[in-house]
Amino acid sequence: MPHYDVIVVGGGVMGCATAYHLAKRGRRVLLLEQFAIGHDRGSSHGHSRIFRLAYDAPDYVRLAQAAYPLWRALEHDSHTDLLFQTGGLDYALPGTPTFEATRATLTALGIEFEQLDRVTITERFPQFQLPDDIVGIYQRDSGILDASRCVATLAAEARRHGADVRENEPARQLSAAGAGVEVRSDTATYLADRLVVTAGAWARPLLRQLGLDLPLTVTREQVAFFAPRTADAGLGDPDQFAPGRFPIFIHHVIEGPSAYGFPAFGLPGVKVAFHQGGPVIAPESEERAADASITAALHDYLSRWIPGAAGALLFSQTCRYTNTPDEHFIIDQHPAHSQIVIGSPCSGHGFKFGVLIGAILADLAERGATEHPIGMFGLGRPELGVGS
Ligand SMILES: Cc1cc2nc3c(=O)[nH]c(=O)nc-3n(C[C@H](O)[C@H](O)[C@H](O)COP(=O)(O)OP(=O)(O)OC[C@H]3O[C@@H](n4cnc5c(N)ncnc54)[C@H](O)[C@@H]3O)c2cc1C
Repeated sequence: MPHYDVIVVGGGVMGCATAYHLAKRGRRVLLLEQFAIGHDRGSSHGHSRIFRLAYDAPDYVRLAQAAYPLWRALEHDSHTDLLFQTGGLDYALPGTPTFEATRATLTALGIEFEQLDRVTITERFPQFQLPDDIVGIYQRDSGILDASRCVATLAAEARRHGADVRENEPARQLSAAGAGVEVRSDTATYLADRLVVTAGAWARPLLRQLGLDLPLTVTREQVAFFAPRTADAGLGDPDQFAPGRFPIFIHHVIEGPSAYGFPAFGLPGVKVAFHQGGPVIAPESEERAADASITAALHDYLSRWIPGAAGALLFSQTCRYTNTPDEHFIIDQHPAHSQIVIGSPCSGHGFKFGVLIGAILADLAERGATEHPIGMFGLGRPELGVGS
């Protein structure tokens, strides 16, 4: 039976990043992915993910600050461009809690940002059509991670450093075996000192095998790209949505799903989506078709707020969120088996931290501790009902 230092189950961004760091640190690593690396059934595929420091809770800002140099180091080592700085605009009506908390957190941590009102936002970004009382924050470090390229690069770098990355090999049975672990697939049984479970939407059924039933819900979320409207519609030139001229944006709201979007990147149009607007699905669901009513609602959103971007639909795609009740991540050791580390249910905002979460999961697997602030993500918090 092959014996590894660490087995990682699940090869999305979190699992590939964990395998990358462990292999780079000289560990014998096996990564099992049930489909091909880069597949479109989980959470990590697609053209783009927002990178931002602008968060409402200080520890997320600190973690994003720690993730930034790791993405840059990965770019350097792999000779691949992954993170494209565009600047980011958050906007809301005054008093919107997540917006106000973000502004307060950036101020408290001394992060540079600009406070804008409707006039100053539309002077800089005339693409927006905003009500008079809107308020905004512009933070220049925000940008776009090329998601699928990040995952492919992490997997390639993990392999280059010696990780055994096995695709199309689902882990069927996970168990603690003495101080180590045993993982069975359809073709082999593997032993290791440590196990890291980064199974995304499939985590709940898999972790039940290890005596943990976490209150995770999976939702099917949808993004859509729309072509700019043409100059003859009186709405300016199509290049107005190029990175550099148009920021990533997040529209905070008091109730209901917030909207967010990107400059033209990956496709010649604006990408827009609602955060947590999709239906709850079973982890094993194979339904991935985009919902026409959500696509129409996204088009309506652009028509109202960014009219020059509300042209023809170019492309829509679905993806999964794995949500915890408090929308914070889970990054911790199993309460009964410290050789098993759990990471990833990321409630739709984890990608930007992926390369760092991989390093943190590697720390926990190697030495049961990390210097990064992960106190919010423990299994013992009351919202998860796990106890310890
Ligand atoms: C529409 C959308 C937009 C988003 N936008 C942003 C954003 O702008 N910024 C941001 O930071 N984050 C964003 N996110 C969130 C981010 O993409 C996720 O947090 C992240 O991709 C989660 O990665 P993961 O590795 O945990 O999960 P996944 O990518 O799903 O990886 C889990 C992997 O485990 C594999 N697996 C499961 N079970 C087994 C098994 N038994 N054996 C072997 N393999 C198994 C699966 O096949 C899968 O590949 C967005 C997510 C979505 C869906």
